[in-house]
Amino acid sequence: MITQVSRQLGHEIVLNVHLVIGSEISVLVDSGIADMGGEILSMIDATSAGRSAVRFIVNTHSHHDHMGANGLLKAELGCIVAAPPALAHWHRDFDRHLAEFTDPADAGVVIPPVELAELRSTLDREHSVELHLGDGSEIDLGGDVLLRCIELPGHVRGEVGFLEASSGTLIIGDVLIGLDWPFFHGYVDTALMRGSLERLDQHLRSGAVLAVRPAHYPVMTAKEATAVVHRIMSTVEEIAAETEIAARSLGSFSARQMRDRLCERFGKAKDFRALAVANAHLLDLVGQGQLRALAGGRYELST
Ligand SMILES: [Zn+2]
Repeated sequence: MITQVSRQLGHEIVLNVHLVIGSEISVLVDSGIADMGGEILSMIDATSAGRSAVRFIVNTHSHHDHMGANGLLKAELGCIVAAPPALAHWHRDFDRHLAEFTDPADAGVVIPPVELAELRSTLDREHSVELHLGDGSEIDLGGDVLLRCIELPGHVRGEVGFLEASSGTLIIGDVLIGLDWPFFHGYVDTALMRGSLERLDQHLRSGAVLAVRPAHYPVMTAKEATAVVHRIMSTVEEIAAETEIAARSLGSFSARQMRDRLCERFGKAKDFRALAVANAHLLDLVGQGQLRALAGGRYELST
């Protein structure tokens, strides 16, 4: 059985946290933001398995809105926290977490103190990750309920989804990025993002997936989720094409200039997430040999 707690974060953004219940143990997939801890405990209390059955919190990835209540829940439930290894240090050190989240390319981004305090308030307590998740990790919950881990990086460097085979349910985080938000939800590595979307598309075509439960979309059928995956693929390629067009017209430029062009073109906020997207596409073009990285964080077309 799978149950969920949902929170509306602003007008456009929904956030879902899932509890998977087997005959032996239960597993919480993500923990939302800090102040969702009480609501999640109430959801667990409402199940017949109760708190003692919850042995693991598994995080799809280590963004603040997916592990924000880990600390409280880990203490209350006495469970193990499992997450992809790439950003496990974000759980132990929130200052480093926020510094690397808001400036993934180490470009000297300064976030207004109010915004930084708001982000910090969504994280409860620093804690350790005891178990690392990757392709092939499995948790047997008893009674044929089995969570199988699938690596889906790109939105961040370490991200996983979980296929629950007996119900054909795919529980995923932010590989399904929000598209209709006022800011770029974003990704830090274009090639990894493309690969994960392809991988997700293959899983959805395999016939093994009957329902998809993403963190930021409602429950969907495989067909509905496929349509979203294809829309995200198209958006990534639109941004890639726009980056090339802008690079040609700008000549020599900084990542911030590219960020501003992309935000103007796509009607998104000129924020740190948008800068991460611009960086991801610039590095992709450098990797393809179409751009050259210059000193001082500038770029120009390869001739
Ligand atoms: Zn995320």
